[in-house]
Amino acid sequence: MQTTVAATSLAPAFRLMPDASERQEERGSMQVVILSPHRDDAAFSCGLLLARLLQAGHSLCIANVCTISSYAPYLAVGEGDRAQQVTKARREEDVRFADRLVTGANSASSVRRIDLDWQDLPLRWQKDDSASLAPSSLRPREVEALEEALRGLPSADIILCPKALGGHLDHRLVCRAAQRVFQASSMVFYEDLPYACGKLAKSSSELGDLDGFEEVWLGTKNVEPRLKRDLCLSYPSQIDEAAAAAMEHYGQLHGGERFLALPGTLQRLRSALAGVGVVA
Ligand SMILES: [Zn+2]
Repeated sequence: MQTTVAATSLAPAFRLMPDASERQEERGSMQVVILSPHRDDAAFSCGLLLARLLQAGHSLCIANVCTISSYAPYLAVGEGDRAQQVTKARREEDVRFADRLVTGANSASSVRRIDLDWQDLPLRWQKDDSASLAPSSLRPREVEALEEALRGLPSADIILCPKALGGHLDHRLVCRAAQRVFQASSMVFYEDLPYACGKLAKSSSELGDLDGFEEVWLGTKNVEPRLKRDLCLSYPSQIDEAAAAAMEHYGQLHGGERFLALPGTLQRLRSALAGVGVVA
């Protein structure tokens, strides 16, 4: 098991890694890239799936997009530069999440985190936090810049991408840019939590033509009852206990986490999880 601490940029050495398909042939394992608009989205939306992929011996690369932030409603921030303190605290939370995630992982698996070092919307647009959920238009130059950054990510067998439920501008930006960069056959869309289990759940305006895509709940048998909650609580600056419990409850109610992909892609995902108690 190798946990790689976040790279602050795409170092050349990273791009020289062997192609994902070569690694898959060598080891029978998949490379999965998770596009996480903010540091907590991968945990909230796909934490159980990620834990199971690691248990099955696959490799994860979590690409955190907006890693520079002053948003932390549950963090006591001291004197000095708020964004600097919050960014640091959220980075430490991400390390805690990766540590929790690898508990019980197969020794052949690995977790890598890449920070794209974008400012989140309130900093980037110099607005207050509420602007993140306002129905503003995406800025084409931002979409293009993110497309360029996503093209620099390592190749992957599967790309996990937010549906942008709830309409957060940063989630919409990632969803839009990703669809312009990656093949539909490699994409698996996840529903954005906690938005999807609350009053902000609604169809995404960013999902383009998804003809033939199917929705599936991926459930886990014999899952530790509190795993989802514990993974979510890796980010105590962002949510309270009640929000973590709501996400756990939502998963238990429906039997897992919900994804959207082409039938062939879902089949590859099911095969990749064979043997670790995942049911779909
Ligand atoms: Zn987010």
